[in-house]
Amino acid sequence: MTGVRVRLAALASVLATVAVGCGGAAPADRDVARAPARPATTIPTTTTAVDGVVEVRYRIERRVDDAATVGFADVVRATLTDPRGWVGAGFRLVEDPAAEYLVVLAEGGEVDELCFPYRTGARFSCQNGPVVAMNADRWRVATETWTGDRASYRQMLVNHEVGHLLGRHHPPEPQCPAPGRPAPVMAQQSTDLDGCLPNPWPLPEELSAAARHDEPLAPPYEKSTSG
Ligand SMILES: [Zn+2]
Repeated sequence: MTGVRVRLAALASVLATVAVGCGGAAPADRDVARAPARPATTIPTTTTAVDGVVEVRYRIERRVDDAATVGFADVVRATLTDPRGWVGAGFRLVEDPAAEYLVVLAEGGEVDELCFPYRTGARFSCQNGPVVAMNADRWRVATETWTGDRASYRQMLVNHEVGHLLGRHHPPEPQCPAPGRPAPVMAQQSTDLDGCLPNPWPLPEELSAAARHDEPLAPPYEKSTSG
């Protein structure tokens, strides 16, 4: 039944047509778009299977064309179907060129437009309603504070921002529970690891919480810092 609730929430969200919510980041935050206007008649791209798994359909766009970003779609697909990811919380993420939800890689200026009113400052990424917008520069080179490799940074970015699409929020402060521990994937690792180890995958407790399917999908802009 929670699935039904999620579905209705998603529908309401789409009908409200506001369609935008950052990756949970606050306005002054690191990750976080005015979603492009969408017709109020768009069809929700979420369905609930009989086994309680919530199916979420999304499409991928790469709006840059340099060599460093060529593998974007492959990484997104692989990450979202990896058993270490949100699959473990009962989500089935299915690529569908006709889907409402969009995972897009773009240059900073375009990400800023997609993310407004979140302030991504040409540096951060976001989830804003049906849109997950990722900053191409971050995709290319990660960040100075990231201590893991580039591949894991990209996986983290996908899981973090799509995590917001699935209704997950940043953890309460301190986002790093203890130095030396893996960071929660919903912690703002792009900004600071705070002594935590870089971690691209949801922690067991993050999976358990997400598995309740009790948050609406594709949340619009949220004013609060951690939502
Ligand atoms: Zn975030």
